[in-house]
Amino acid sequence: GVSPGMWQAPQVPRYVRVNTLKTSVEEVIDYFKRQGYAYLGKATSMKDLCSLSEKQFLLDLHLPDLLIFHPQLDFHKNYLYMAGHIVLQDKASCLPAFLLNPSLGSHVIDACAAPGNKTSHLAAILKNKGQIFAFDLDIMRLTTMSTMLVRAGATCYELANQDFLTVDPYDPKYREVKYILLDPSCTGSGMVNRLPGPEGPPSLERLQALAGFQRKVLTRALRFPGVQRLVYSTCSVHREENEDVVRDVLQEYGAAFRLVNVLPSWPQRGLATFLGSECCLRASPEETLTNGFFIAVLERKPEGDDTAS
Ligand code: SAM
Repeated sequence: GVSPGMWQAPQVPRYVRVNTLKTSVEEVIDYFKRQGYAYLGKATSMKDLCSLSEKQFLLDLHLPDLLIFHPQLDFHKNYLYMAGHIVLQDKASCLPAFLLNPSLGSHVIDACAAPGNKTSHLAAILKNKGQIFAFDLDIMRLTTMSTMLVRAGATCYELANQDFLTVDPYDPKYREVKYILLDPSCTGSGMVNRLPGPEGPPSLERLQALAGFQRKVLTRALRFPGVQRLVYSTCSVHREENEDVVRDVLQEYGAAFRLVNVLPSWPQRGLATFLGSECCLRASPEETLTNGFFIAVLERKPEGDDTAS
């Protein structure tokens, strides 16, 4: 049973990602303790999260740089946020960069990057050592992103106001790109604060148009000759934008790439719509106390490995 004071999905906790380019998890924990919050240590289960009071916080179970606070709190005016020491980012949206896990010094593409929360997370994982090529079509969003990346202390990136579908995978500039993060436009149907949505569920036409774009952009990304690992993510709950996109693209590229079974302990997996879909992750307010989200991690098969994925 749920005891009084416990809050319930679809409310999700306030997640605070520590920007390790500017500070450390220890320093941020100390800061919040000095502000009067009690630190309860690392979470062990979802139940720990649901019983947090407004004056307590936890370290996340899966992500080493993520702190968890009560849903009612808002840190947009907090000094640490203004100074770029923390990023206010839902847990699900922290998973793509964490699971891509680029090695120090490597070259990474962020194909649909603005407003750049995942780019700044990638820069933190790279410790600013390496190169991120970040693309976005929308100049306004790129402008916001540029300000945010400066505030976050990221330096290892290059922004381009370019349609990723027009980027030449064989351009020598991208020869060393081993990692790609692909977080394309989607219906956004998983966003908690957009539920149920004033415009109602997306029309079939809109879903099909987005899914068509998502297949195209994923196909394009897999053409980069050096890419070894790719994370595909959406904040959609629709299988048309998620499992179906991955299934269709693997049908074409399954000889060269396979799905990686990431975070085996993660409770919510891809819908069982094709063989291997359980390698994908889903997230939701009910099951993972996050926004609705989908993630697939693809890796290039070793040469000479012809096994179907
Ligand atoms: N990854 C971002 C983050 O974590 O802050 C959010 C990305 S948002 C889901 C998708 C982005 O893709 C939008 O900013 C949109 O402008 C951009 N976009 C849409 N079509 C694109 C294209 N063909 N090439 C590059 N960017 C595109």
